[in-house]
Amino acid sequence: MNLPDPIRRIADQLKGLPGIGPRQAIRLAFYLVGQGRNAIDELSSAAEDLKRMKACSRCFFPHQDKNNLCDICLNPRRDKYTIAILEKETDLVSIENTKKYNGRYLVLGPISKTGALLDFQKLRLQSLKNYIQKELGGKAEEIILAFNPTSYGDFIAASLAKELDGFAKKISRLGRGLPTGGEIEFADDETLGSALERRG
Ligand SMILES: [Zn+2]
Repeated sequence: MNLPDPIRRIADQLKGLPGIGPRQAIRLAFYLVGQGRNAIDELSSAAEDLKRMKACSRCFFPHQDKNNLCDICLNPRRDKYTIAILEKETDLVSIENTKKYNGRYLVLGPISKTGALLDFQKLRLQSLKNYIQKELGGKAEEIILAFNPTSYGDFIAASLAKELDGFAKKISRLGRGLPTGGEIEFADDETLGSALERRG
């Protein structure tokens, strides 16, 4: 049927979101109408705020300060010689939630199914190398490759280990405690925490 215009418009926006199909998008659109005006205002102002987010110039995690660096990169109590490289912002959130990691990060961005690095990812990696050269005297203590234990996660970790050879005293891999094919994002705090502790 021809959906009412506002329903169709919002559903078109929602259906592109991760995990949201066209039917679900329409269901959500009607649900929002049912929530009433205040809830819709709240949602649109929250979405509006997203425009103020920008990527940290060092780890590329989005933040909203006027500063170029995020809270983690600015925090002097975080060990700058230990750097975890991960795929997604949500992986960083999961690792932070374990409260078992006190190093810094580099968010690489979504890895393509071929496992090859995209141009912007090569730039991020280069900026990490520059940072290690300039700020850490050429060598980090440890670089943790925190990728999902899937075949393309393995592939990217192997190629990054080669790429970063010589930039850290130790290059370790997270994921050994995680179920094969599992995802960091969905691991519970305890499983992920022990994968972190037993990295190697
Ligand atoms: Zn940062």
